[in-house]
Amino acid sequence: MPGYNHLFIPGPTNIPEEVRMAMNVSMQDMRAPDFPELTKPLFEKLAKLFRNSTGRVFLYPSSGTGAWEAAIQNTLSPGDKVLMSRFGQFSHLWVDMAQRFGLDVDVIDCEWGTGVPVEKYAEKLKADSAHEIKAVFATHNETATGVSSDIKGVRRALDDANHPALLMVDGVSSIGSIEFDQDAWGVDCAVSGSQKGFMLPAGLGILSVSKWALDAHKRAEYSRTFFSFEDMIATNDQGFFPYTPATQLLRGLDVACDMLIDEGLENVWARHNRLATGVRKAVDAWGLRLCAKEPKWHSDTVSAIMVPEDKDARDVISTAYSKYNTSLGTGLSKVMGKVFRIGHLGWLNEGMVTTAVSVAEMSMIENGFDIKAGSGVGAAIEHFTSTTAQSGKAIAAE
Ligand code: PLP
Repeated sequence: MPGYNHLFIPGPTNIPEEVRMAMNVSMQDMRAPDFPELTKPLFEKLAKLFRNSTGRVFLYPSSGTGAWEAAIQNTLSPGDKVLMSRFGQFSHLWVDMAQRFGLDVDVIDCEWGTGVPVEKYAEKLKADSAHEIKAVFATHNETATGVSSDIKGVRRALDDANHPALLMVDGVSSIGSIEFDQDAWGVDCAVSGSQKGFMLPAGLGILSVSKWALDAHKRAEYSRTFFSFEDMIATNDQGFFPYTPATQLLRGLDVACDMLIDEGLENVWARHNRLATGVRKAVDAWGLRLCAKEPKWHSDTVSAIMVPEDKDARDVISTAYSKYNTSLGTGLSKVMGKVFRIGHLGWLNEGMVTTAVSVAEMSMIENGFDIKAGSGVGAAIEHFTSTTAQSGKAIAAE
């Protein structure tokens, strides 16, 4: 099929040309004396993007799931009590991992379409005067349902209860796209991956840890090898890795970090809000609903759009792909067939988002949805043309 294949899944995301070209290099010696000239500044750039001034950032040749595992193994011990919540496929998988590690998991199950139950966390933390809970887990952006949660609120719940538990945050589909502030929110382990906000192929698990997570590491009793903080620190401090790093990905990451820093994090967040708002205006105009139950849960990186009960979202995705060369995200697990997702994160602008909206609209019309041609696209265009791309302005417009 002529023309570009349009990628609007919520990761992997589109790769900027600068990043792609930076990875198009001959294979390099990862033990060369000048290799640290790449890696040492890269660690600093990442710390800046996570807003982590107390600890350090680890880069694993894994995906985000590896960084989840690294966080658990390096800071906790078998049988430790942890507090978690489950409201979508990714929060579900993190709970599953914690259980398989033999942690004593107190899971709060929440309706899909909602997010981290901050008030319930607060109650449990207040009641835990013996400080048996060693870590509190929160999925910042549930990619399956398009729900963002209040991590600042979780930190407040910990502080109000004077509770020393670690705060572990899954930021795989949020960090580098929507507001995240490790220092201000007191996040101890912030998990991410290369293929979403960092605009790279999959292949790097990125884990940013606070000073307190590094302290907890000294007491943590899980055995570990591949993900070991000690091994990483011993070599990273010299600018190297304990095993073969994914050098091309590191080259690409370096450029991606520069792009995010040059744009300015606040501007990146405002851009994501502006683009997401355009999609939400289209959803309203179609007369459809998001899986996210209330505006406070709206994700600025992915919208999971519910289809009417007599429709199957997989047909919309299939028409978009086969007829319009466009990938939309499928519904996962419980919401399979009930939602399709538009990923609006990473290297993206208004024209690209309008394409996603127009293809979704064409596919729905072809599948017999009662939707007026141009309604969603018109609403998105109206939003983009009546607000500016300036930081803050688009936020005020919703
Ligand atoms: N957490 C969230 C919120 C995700 O969206 C994903 C993947 O999409 C993961 C964790 C797992 O990351 P990975 O697929 O990079 O292992």
